[in-house]
Parts: sequence; C-alpha cells; structure tokens
Amino acid sequence: MTVRNLFLLPGDGIGPEAMAEVRKIITYMNAEMAGGFTTDEGLVGGCAYDAHGAAISDADMAKAMAADAVLFGAVGGPKWDDVPYEVRPEAGLLRLRKDMELFANLRPAICYPALSDASSLKPELVEGLDILIVRELTGGVYFGEPKEIIDLGNGQKRGIDTQVYDTYEIERIAGVAFELARTRGNRVCSMEKRNVMKSGVLWNQVVTATHKAKYSDVALDHMLADAGGMQLVRAPKQFDVIVTDNLFGDMLSDVAAMLTGSLGMLPSASLGSPDAKTGKRKALYEPVHGSAPDIAGKGIANPIAMIASFAMCLRYSFNLVKEADTLEKAIANVLDKGVRTGDIMADGARQVGTVEMGDTILAEF
Ligand code: ATP
Ligand code: MG
Repeated sequence: MTVRNLFLLPGDGIGPEAMAEVRKIITYMNAEMAGGFTTDEGLVGGCAYDAHGAAISDADMAKAMAADAVLFGAVGGPKWDDVPYEVRPEAGLLRLRKDMELFANLRPAICYPALSDASSLKPELVEGLDILIVRELTGGVYFGEPKEIIDLGNGQKRGIDTQVYDTYEIERIAGVAFELARTRGNRVCSMEKRNVMKSGVLWNQVVTATHKAKYSDVALDHMLADAGGMQLVRAPKQFDVIVTDNLFGDMLSDVAAMLTGSLGMLPSASLGSPDAKTGKRKALYEPVHGSAPDIAGKGIANPIAMIASFAMCLRYSFNLVKEADTLEKAIANVLDKGVRTGDIMADGARQVGTVEMGDTILAEF
C-alpha cells in the first residue's frame, strides 16, 4: 500500500490557524481514501526559537528531509524582532530550502472567476487566468560570488553582486518547467536578458538545447525579462508556464500575484531533484503570504492560500490529480457562492472566519 508521509510545520502567526483547516481536509481524505496520509508535526520559526533556541531543530529538520512532502505555514512576528540574526524565524525556512535543495519555486497565478474584479487589471484581462511561474531558487545573483562591499579608499565604496549560472542549474529548472507544461497548456516561455547578460545568453542556449533534446513536444518561446514583465500586465492570458532565474522570478511572480487580487489566495511549491532510487522529488508547500501578525489569533485569516498549497501537494508530490482538481474546484465553488473572508470581502457576499471558510470548502470537496 502507498504510504504518503506529510510533515507539517504550522509556524507562527496565522500559520497554525490556516494549517488547522488543511488538517481537517487530511482527516477527511484519510477516512475516504485507501492508504491516505501519515502526518507528523514540528516547530519552525519563532515558536521553535522559544522551544529550543533555533529556528528549526535538527530533529525536525531530519523529519522534513525524510518526509514525502512538507507543509509549511508561516514564520515570524514582532515578538522575535530582536532575536539574533542566525536564529531569526526566517532562518528556519532558509535552512529547509537549502538542506532540501529546493531549486524550483512554483508560483501559480490563478484568477478565480468570482474574484476577477479584485485584480489590478480589468476583469476581462484576467478572467480564467491560469499561469505558473517557475523561478530558479538556489542560484543566480542571490548567491553568486563575489558578493561584497569593498572600500575603495577615496571615500567611495563598491557594492558587488555576481550573477552566476552553470549549465546543470539551467537544465534542471528548464526540465521542471517543461514537465509541468506537459500537465497543463504545454507551453513554456523562458525569460532572461541575453541582450545585456552573459548568464542570460547561456540561459537561453541551455533552455533551447534542453527543449530540443527532451521536450520538443512542448511549445517554447523566449522573451526578454523586461518585455515579459510588460506582457504580464498587458495580456497575461498569453502565458502558460514561465521559467526564469532567481531575481527576475522574484519580481515577475510578485507582479503576477497582483493580477489575482489577495495575498490570502496564493499558494506556492518548492521542489528539489528527483531521488536517484525512488524518483521522488523533495518538496515544500507554503502560502505566499507571511504570518500576518496584525490578524493572528483573531480567527479571520483566509485559509485558501494554505489549502491551495495542499492541493499543489496532492498534484505534484502524490500525483493525486483528481483530488487536487476537486479541491481547487471546491475553492472556486465556495467563492462563487459568495462566501468570503474579510480580505476578499465584496458587496453582497457573506463574511466568514477562518474555520467556517475551511468547513465550507471541505463540505464542497
Ligand atoms: P512576511 O514578511 O512574513 O512575508 P509580510 O509583512 O510581507 O510578512 P504578510 O504577513 O504576508 O506580510 O501579510 C501582509 C498583510 O496582508 C497582513 O498584515 C494581513 O493584513 C494581510 N494578509 C496576509 N495573509 C492573509 C490571509 N491569509 N488572510 C487575510 N489577510 C492576510
Ligand atoms: Mg513579505
């Protein structure tokens, strides 16, 4: 029988409140489904610091490494503003990403029909929008050496960051993008700045070669990243999968986020390389939003980003495509019925809290 191991890291702020709604869905699925899930739970962020002086303990880190998938809530809050830098709440997430080698960050921008008027764009431009941004997460200018500020001695200083990409890093992120495209609209648009950057020239060459070698059934386009940003706000529905580097991906995925409305709606996934023996990828799923200390403990947080992150987990870690589709449909249906948390409230809608939103989605599931 298939064993599916989930490791839950609810974290701080609204993280635990949102995770509680996912736990209900897991419990329901376990009663309905052969095998189901085994779950274990740990501490990350400020709560981990309070318990054992680290943003994540070695024991919990080992559990995350051993799990089929990690579900992550959110970390941080004003309570931990003054803790030492190395053990600040965010260090927990950074360690997870680094030790699990999560090089591919997946950020879907989906516009639910009921929320198309919440976009920064005209509703007709975003209605039915469904794009996936695949951002390289462990390389590029965020990590390249040298990275320093040099004192030039004449009252001048020089800040240096270095954009570095090796062939293998581009090949593996391109591979993820092409494979995902096959499960969706079968189109990839690769974005770089080959007109001014050598790493962009290499990026373009390697994506093209990877496409030719293994994925020629997928349609491939290239766009300069600045033009890509413009196209994202001009006519976002032209895109299916966008693959890009760490820095451009950071910016473009935030742009795409604003096409869909609220922060409380956006899921994400981070994937590693397939295991040599099992072929399974390490994976971590988390909402895009943070711990939202201003609303934590009030029972009003929108759990949809966390629930949609779990839907991504069903799809990408366990190939439970039908269940993932059904869960995403349940979210869309609930929105169609005018059930809303405060952050996505609209005229004539019925406002609910975190728990009721979770219950309503579960009832539709
Ligand atoms: P971080 O630094 O952890 O990314 P942040 O300061 O960028 O955090 P978030 O915590 O993501 O910001 O949220 C910003 C604001 O958006 C919150 O203060 C909250 O008001 C609102 N918000 C975020 N997530 C949600 C949610 N799930 N439901 C309702 N409101 C939310
Ligand atoms: Mg933030």
